[in-house]
Amino acid sequence: MNVTELARKLKVNPQELREMLPRMGFHVGQKAIKVDPKTAQRIISQWPSLIKELKAKDEKLKKEEKEEEIKKEDKKIIPIPAFIIIRDFAEISNIPINKVLKELMNNGVFASMNEKIDFETAAIIGDSLGLEVKLDEKSKEETGGDEKKIDEVLKKEDKNKLATRPPVIVVMGHVDHGKTKLLDAIRRTDVVAGEHGGITQHIGAYQVTRKKRLITFIDTPGHEAFTAMRSRGARIADVAILIVAADDGVKPQTVEAFNIIKAAGIPFVVAINKIDKPEADINKTKQELSTQLGITPEDWGGKTICVPISAKAGTGIDEILDMLLLVADTETKNIKANPTSQAIGTIIESHVDKNTGPVATILIQNGTLKIGDQLCTQGNICGKVRALKDYTGENIKEAPPSTPAKIIGLKIAPTVGDILEVGEGKRVKGKLEKLTKKSSIVKINGKEDKNAETAKKINLIIKSDVLGSAEAIEESLMKINTEEVQVKIINKGLGNIIEGDIDRAEGTSAEIIGFNIKMTPQIETLAREKNIQVHIFNVIYDLIEYVKGEMQKLIIAKIEKVNLGRLKVLAIFKTGNKDQIVGGKVLDGQIKNNVWVEIMRDKELIETGKITRLQAGKQDVELAEKNQECGIEYQGNPIIQEGDILKFFEEKKTISKL
Ligand code: GDP
Repeated sequence: MNVTELARKLKVNPQELREMLPRMGFHVGQKAIKVDPKTAQRIISQWPSLIKELKAKDEKLKKEEKEEEIKKEDKKIIPIPAFIIIRDFAEISNIPINKVLKELMNNGVFASMNEKIDFETAAIIGDSLGLEVKLDEKSKEETGGDEKKIDEVLKKEDKNKLATRPPVIVVMGHVDHGKTKLLDAIRRTDVVAGEHGGITQHIGAYQVTRKKRLITFIDTPGHEAFTAMRSRGARIADVAILIVAADDGVKPQTVEAFNIIKAAGIPFVVAINKIDKPEADINKTKQELSTQLGITPEDWGGKTICVPISAKAGTGIDEILDMLLLVADTETKNIKANPTSQAIGTIIESHVDKNTGPVATILIQNGTLKIGDQLCTQGNICGKVRALKDYTGENIKEAPPSTPAKIIGLKIAPTVGDILEVGEGKRVKGKLEKLTKKSSIVKINGKEDKNAETAKKINLIIKSDVLGSAEAIEESLMKINTEEVQVKIINKGLGNIIEGDIDRAEGTSAEIIGFNIKMTPQIETLAREKNIQVHIFNVIYDLIEYVKGEMQKLIIAKIEKVNLGRLKVLAIFKTGNKDQIVGGKVLDGQIKNNVWVEIMRDKELIETGKITRLQAGKQDVELAEKNQECGIEYQGNPIIQEGDILKFFEEKKTISKL
């Protein structure tokens, strides 16, 4: 029968019928013209019930869809700004701060709760925590926010006063591909740093001179893992180095770094690192760059400069510097500033120093910062510049564009990523007090107090490079506290380990834990003499694992008795001085060789000994089951008698894991 004819009989549209039939369980194609007569007959006769079933099915589907939609609506959508302080993020998303910090760490972002993360980072963290994070409307309108501010300032500048400034470079790439090593290798090419014995101050950036021209390198702490900083790094940088290890090729973070560079719209050069390694394959790396990232090297007819280097051996470092200058020269239009203006720049590092108060490193992006200048952020006064230091630790009188400078004299510790500018603003009260108090108070959470009496404690003195690290370490350590063993932070401070730390450790039986800091040989000797444990780490994960290990050592093993089975003694074969051989039948459970045994007589325990041999049917066995008859060799007080019950048990040591 023709489908159209059948449709007419059923009073439905033929096309609709074609769509309905398969859903009713009839295998009729969407373009079918005919239906075999038997099927047609069945359809006609069952039509009313078929229609009813289909309607019910449709309704069910609709209901499910609706429920799904409601569920979707239920998923929290959280509007956040382009940058958000981690603590605020936790608050508005109603997730415990520790969970947020942990998730950040899982994603390689090592930050304290007072630091800002950018929108992309918040979105990634939010996703892992089951939230949908959206850029809030206001931020959408003014994407870039503060960053735009610098652009605007530059736009307003008198073009005649704009002068070329040193290019600012950022190194990005996959972890372990050699970012730190390259930054070190570049730093070593610098004469000034050389004069200081190669030890430069870690202020988040440094400068080198190549062919009498200055180049600024961003070298932020923990930069190898700090996604948020990486993206910010790209925004304050003029040129990026995308580093790829020739023995490892393009990896996830290479892709991520490249995307950040692309999004920031800055030029870049590729450093193909570790070419000293026998397994290095420059061609394969270029192939991967080309296929996975669409980067075509110059020597393959493309546009991207790729320099093979070995950060370890120092090969190709001069070439990479030359290439950076070359790229900078083609970008001169964008690498300009007015050195005569009032200064404006971005904070690339910030911490509170016990003696000097808040200390921050600013990268000047326009104007020249001078001693005595008043700095503001978002209209609030941060303080006056009392002193300026360059990356070698030398005092400088002024910081022209592209200079990273440590500012001393701030009243408020700014957040990394904040834009600071010279000018007038509102006075902010109380903030400093809050900050310094917070950093010196040893905060012990409630959990500790409650178990303070019974718990074993590890006393620690923590010294770290920046406030951010100290806070993150404290947060993480507090999280591993258990009822049995706890970390007690006796003191935490910033900077290298000093004699006072050793004395304090001695007085409080504490260990000293350092993060990203150093210890002089004198202090090392002193620590050894006084038998003070000092451990310095550069990776937070290692630090936490170490403390966990120390805590684990304090957890006493719990010995648990595991009952195996019982045996009734039926015969005594031999009685020695300290042993017996007896025979019996397993009453219940299972008995084993080499386990403990309790001798029970009239339901009373009279002795405990050990089984050293088990025989069944004249065979040495390890196990005997219920109802089995067996012989045992017993070591212990030889008092077993016929009719005694032997209870077999094992001792199981359990150490609770942190
Ligand atoms: P980052 O995580 O990108 O900062 O990587 P690092 O600079 O810490 O380097 C990771 C590891 O690779 C370290 O053990 C370095 O010593 C090593 N490394 C870095 N550059 C080279 C290189 O050019 N050759 C070799 N053989 N090893 C290198």
